Amino acid sequence: MTQFDTIIRNGTIIDGTRSARFKGDLGIKDGLVAAISKDGLDPAAAAEVIDADGLIVAPGFVDLHTHYDAQIQWDPYCTLSGWHGVTSLVLGNCGFGFAPVAPENRDRVMLSMSRVEAIPFDSMKTGMLWDWVTFPEWLDSLQRMPKGVNVISYVPVGPVMIWVMGLEEAKRRDPTPEELAEMCRLIELGMDAGACGWSVQKLGDGFTSVQRDYDGTPMVTDMMSNDTCLAFAEVLRKRGEGHIQITQAREDIYEDLQFVEKLAEVSGAPVLFNVVTANNYHPRQSRRLVQWAEKAQAKGNKVYLQAVSVGNDNTMTFADFNLLDGQDDWREVTLGTIEERKAKMQDADRRQRLRDDYDHGRMPIVTGPIKHFVVKEVVKPENKQWEGMTLAELGEARGCHPIDALLDLIIDEDLQTVIFTPVFNDDPELNREIFSSEYTVPGVSDGGAHTKFVTIGRYTTEFIADFVREKELLTLEEAHYRLSCLPAKMSGFIDRGTIAEGRPADIVVYDYDELHSTPQEIAHDFPGGEWRRVQKAVGYRHIMVNGVETFRDGDCTGKTPGKLLRHGHA
Ligand SMILES: [Zn+2]
Repeated sequence: MTQFDTIIRNGTIIDGTRSARFKGDLGIKDGLVAAISKDGLDPAAAAEVIDADGLIVAPGFVDLHTHYDAQIQWDPYCTLSGWHGVTSLVLGNCGFGFAPVAPENRDRVMLSMSRVEAIPFDSMKTGMLWDWVTFPEWLDSLQRMPKGVNVISYVPVGPVMIWVMGLEEAKRRDPTPEELAEMCRLIELGMDAGACGWSVQKLGDGFTSVQRDYDGTPMVTDMMSNDTCLAFAEVLRKRGEGHIQITQAREDIYEDLQFVEKLAEVSGAPVLFNVVTANNYHPRQSRRLVQWAEKAQAKGNKVYLQAVSVGNDNTMTFADFNLLDGQDDWREVTLGTIEERKAKMQDADRRQRLRDDYDHGRMPIVTGPIKHFVVKEVVKPENKQWEGMTLAELGEARGCHPIDALLDLIIDEDLQTVIFTPVFNDDPELNREIFSSEYTVPGVSDGGAHTKFVTIGRYTTEFIADFVREKELLTLEEAHYRLSCLPAKMSGFIDRGTIAEGRPADIVVYDYDELHSTPQEIAHDFPGGEWRRVQKAVGYRHIMVNGVETFRDGDCTGKTPGKLLRHGHA
């Protein structure tokens, strides 16, 4: 028997508390950090010694906003997150998930998820276990699954509403007092079983409502009343535990923020508001949110901002894309089979409305201005000449309105033309402001969602490589605090998020100068013959979960040391 299972030697340790880095050794035993030494540990005292000379040793990252609820059933490492140093993550965001779901409603909920979070239906149909019905049974199933990361889950309130009221009823009316009491009871049961709180998406039915049901209608949570939401907040006040994640953006942002603060006041719990992001075109947007959070916190209302910190470009085709769903005509032409979509794109009246929308200069909230969309990759050789053009350039080159130019091109290619929507949230000074607030958490990975057009699960790597090393927006110590300690504290990951003796050894060891994301590529690794876009990471030498290595130099070890953390602990 050795004193330690592993010693990580001579690393530069950044412990996640914002303390200054120091050179030292870590001794790991039985999944925990057993010793931290500046003077060095005896290498003979360990079964394995990892040389970390010249490398950073830091706490594994905590990813609060994911939708791996389906993917974790076929991918224990929840990639991209697992590749990018994430060691703990939260499932069940935005009010969406798979429990409780009556067996006869399984296909319907998977259909919803195939659009609202754009997870391929055939992957869910093939890859999901469905060995649960209730939320506590879902947690039991999660506990049994092999996991390469630690997980915790919100009670997503969408399935709770559907369970009690039925899908159609829940979309069109408020619950009766009896139904409301039953929904609160189910949230309580979920909390009893170990959930970290509850989550909701409230995007209404207007142009900010970009994540919708498979038929284009709003999700049940989008239509829920403030009163229902506040009743759920009371559940957390009564228990004195848990937190709330809310995705909200409607036409009247002022009213929205008042309501979100009210949720914090009523629940007494931390409320994680989604999202703050730099908007290069409208700098006031993020400033206003940062000021709001600061003011709310000063009043004792625990409001936090979840940021989309990484460049939010999309690489998509109109066969899959759904993030223009807030605009009626764009939603219409991206619903249905390929043939139906093409037919709708030919409709003269609708084209006129799409041209008007373009000319009006309205800016879809996820993609930025449509005129900046770029033709990235064509299918037919004769269309090669259009590659690299923005829609404005395409219209000019083809001698017609840019919308007609776009639609004619993609119809000609059966909607397989690859379109790129450029980043518009990368202004360094705006990002510096956003992260100068004590109450901003980096993210959003949206891991497991929008898998055919989004790869923002790389945010942890970019936060260090881009924001710290390239742009010097914050110190590395501050970055590690934000990537691990702050989200762990917020979400109830007890004992995680920092490196300290007696705490679980969730550790990343990486080369600071080398760390970067690889270019986007297509991976054919989803069940049901499906594919997704991915970006991997270079520079992580060792990623450890509960003291066991999951990745070495980017190669998966096949070990699954991750745990379900009920109430934040194993
Ligand atoms: Zn989400």
